[in-house]
Amino acid sequence: MPFQPARLGLHFEIMTLAATEDSSRSFLMTKQILKPTQNCDACNSPMVLSPCAASKSADLYIWKCGRPCKKTKNIRSGSVLSGSNLPFQHFLLLIYYFSSKSLTNVEISAYTGITEKSVGVWRATNKYQYSSLHSATSADTISHLSFPPKLLS
Ligand SMILES: [Zn+2]
Repeated sequence: MPFQPARLGLHFEIMTLAATEDSSRSFLMTKQILKPTQNCDACNSPMVLSPCAASKSADLYIWKCGRPCKKTKNIRSGSVLSGSNLPFQHFLLLIYYFSSKSLTNVEISAYTGITEKSVGVWRATNKYQYSSLHSATSADTISHLSFPPKLLS
């Protein structure tokens, strides 16, 4: 009989999801924390998610209008990550560690490599701005992963 691993738990699942920027970005789009579709501000046509140079966006992806206007839009546009350059991997880890009410900002900073000041800013932001994140994740279908309501309310 083949080895049947026990369920590995939330920690393993988060570390797998946050393993790369690609996997993190995909997850955040699936959960609509990053917008999974965008329309062009100029002509209202659906935009195409396209790879781009780091000089255009550090995320290495950008929304491009396929019409002649050729407008582009940052993939963080209209999300809680708009205006931030926090890597998506770090964002997922932050949400995960914030879900443990006993962890201090100093500990989370040590675990993630994010500065203590930045952890504090994100924690404060969470309290007020994450209701949309909560509704995006409450219908979670990915196994048992959910963002704790305490964090998101
Ligand atoms: Zn356009």
